[in-house]
Amino acid sequence: MQTNFTPAQLADPGTAASERAIRACVHCGFCTATCPSYLVLGDELDSPRGRIYLMRDMLENNKIPSAQTVRHIDRCLSCLACATTCPSGVNYRHLIDHARAYIEAKFRRPLADRALRATLAVILPRPALFRAALLLARPAKPLARMLPARLRPMLAMAPDRIPPPDSLGRPAIHPAIGPRRARVALLAGCAQSVLAPEINAAAIRLLTRLGIEVIIPPKAGCCGALTAHIGKDGQAFAATNIKAWRALAEAAPLDAILVTTSGCGSFIKDYAHLFATHPSLAADAAHIAALTQDITEFLGKMPLPDPAANFPGRGIRVAYHAACSLSHGQHVTEQPKKLLAAAGFTVLTPKDAHLCCGSAGTYNLLQPDIARDLRTRKLASITPLDPDVIASGNIGCLTQLASGTDLPTCHTVQLLDWSLGGPSPFGEHGR
Ligand code: SF4
Ligand code: SF4
Repeated sequence: MQTNFTPAQLADPGTAASERAIRACVHCGFCTATCPSYLVLGDELDSPRGRIYLMRDMLENNKIPSAQTVRHIDRCLSCLACATTCPSGVNYRHLIDHARAYIEAKFRRPLADRALRATLAVILPRPALFRAALLLARPAKPLARMLPARLRPMLAMAPDRIPPPDSLGRPAIHPAIGPRRARVALLAGCAQSVLAPEINAAAIRLLTRLGIEVIIPPKAGCCGALTAHIGKDGQAFAATNIKAWRALAEAAPLDAILVTTSGCGSFIKDYAHLFATHPSLAADAAHIAALTQDITEFLGKMPLPDPAANFPGRGIRVAYHAACSLSHGQHVTEQPKKLLAAAGFTVLTPKDAHLCCGSAGTYNLLQPDIARDLRTRKLASITPLDPDVIASGNIGCLTQLASGTDLPTCHTVQLLDWSLGGPSPFGEHGR
């Protein structure tokens, strides 16, 4: 696509990266076939190609974005299905992130929208605040109809039961059981540690049993993705993590930084871009990004023992939901399914597996109608498979899908942990 940015505009690295992405687009429209917002809304301006036109116009002309432009950009899930489909290699991730930050800086949203976004940006990355908010939300659920419409989706998404914190997920060194094969850091994360602390607990049990030392450093926390997705600064959170992991790597060689929330993993793997022009953290950010792996990516490279012959999960039908942040964001597609199959589960793949479930960070809170439509479509492709459980690698997807079905949901790593001696994710009275 032709562009007319001035040299002064291109001196800004963010604008230069966006210009490269826009120029790479050849208008072919292949991406529209896999774009969930276009599928739901059917408007070219809600497709990747349409948004690229809007972003070019906004950035090139240094415009104050119109409400219409903002609406179409906001409706993008950042699922990156378009990037997977694009034959020209358009870096849609950097383009949409830049556009979101640009909008945040130049567009004055209505007060209610600003307040909602500011509240999410403060609460979600901080586990203590998030937990307190969920505890407050629970008794307010019956009053949802009396609350402003913007707040209702948040109440609807709040789980009925908030699990107690799992002591395994706290900052600590978890020694390898038996001879040590590797030393890794594990991202404690933010929202997941409140909604489902059992996921990292399962990861720690599984890894240590396999001879991996697991360290959760005290100062690492939110990766910054949740705030960046709404156009706000994710750098401060990211910088804290980089320093915490750098200190760990300086103390002794670190084989990997493992992540059990693919939304976070996708963002951390892009730290090199986020800090490309940072005077002191650019090199460390690139090193951290290179060390980062999804837990299934890491496990997929290791020889794993077979589950016991009497493992009760053998043959259980697992519908594997590919989180966009894992499949499109990190190109980790086959490893989770192979690991589950090797562990004795019957793995089922829903049709249209490339389509987002509507979770997408804070999308289901900010665009609840489109998110609900996508969840319905996703569950309509999963339910006919008659699964016993839905597994995925991202807490956002698990929460989103669980809010629309009675089927059990769990993280891939919980099933793997169960297959090698951990507790059943279905509880002691389950399977
Ligand atoms: S990131 Fe997803 S929703 Fe956004 S334009 Fe690309 S395919 Fe569509
Ligand atoms: S598939 Fe790629 S090149 Fe084709 S219109 Fe979409 S973004 Fe542009």
